[in-house]
Amino acid sequence: MNRKHIISVVSLTALVLLAACAPAATANPVNNTASTVEPTAASSTDVVSPTAVNSTDTQAIAGLACGAGSSSVTATPALTEGPYYKAGSPEQANLYQEGMAGTKIVITGYVYDTNCQPVANAWLDFWQADANGNYDNSGYTLRGHQFTDANGRYQLITVVPGLYPGRTEHIHFKVQAPNGQAITSQLFFPGVVQNDSDGIYNADLLLSIQEAADGLQGYYNFVVPAS
Ligand code: FE
Repeated sequence: MNRKHIISVVSLTALVLLAACAPAATANPVNNTASTVEPTAASSTDVVSPTAVNSTDTQAIAGLACGAGSSSVTATPALTEGPYYKAGSPEQANLYQEGMAGTKIVITGYVYDTNCQPVANAWLDFWQADANGNYDNSGYTLRGHQFTDANGRYQLITVVPGLYPGRTEHIHFKVQAPNGQAITSQLFFPGVVQNDSDGIYNADLLLSIQEAADGLQGYYNFVVPAS
């Protein structure tokens, strides 16, 4: 290994350490939950490419709006609803069903307003393709709405959606504060090659993801306009 290689390895190690430490360094309550995930999460970061490390670092900041002492932030960006929304989804935070194909993921976070105040009883409606890229357009599989608790927190249990033609992996959502205006948009997954070729993709909507004991743990904080 020559000197150039050694410098590269040192740089990469520093990047990995930075990326691994960044979320834990914030005071956001979401990260308190992060400490409960398996320690394998850190080693999984070790094997990602330098490009992925950089995007992980960026998305950790985007996905954890109002962390690290922020006092005001911009609202979650809106994106197209797409053709598969169905109104009237059941109230259910757990969209995962036993035996369902794909990787299970638990996504948690908060709904804040643009002053970084948590929003209790905010409405969240999620819908997504299954692991094979298909939507349930006759029923409500992988569709459900929920409301944030008194602390503004939500939790979604689901599977990582599959790809379908022209689109990268994404979970559609609507979020609305009580008596507020709904924001319709989509969440994305870090490290997916198709992110770069998807015209709808927006890095501000990347989940922060860690490996968990039985799948993945994702984090995202939504931000709605202050009333
Ligand atoms: Fe879609």
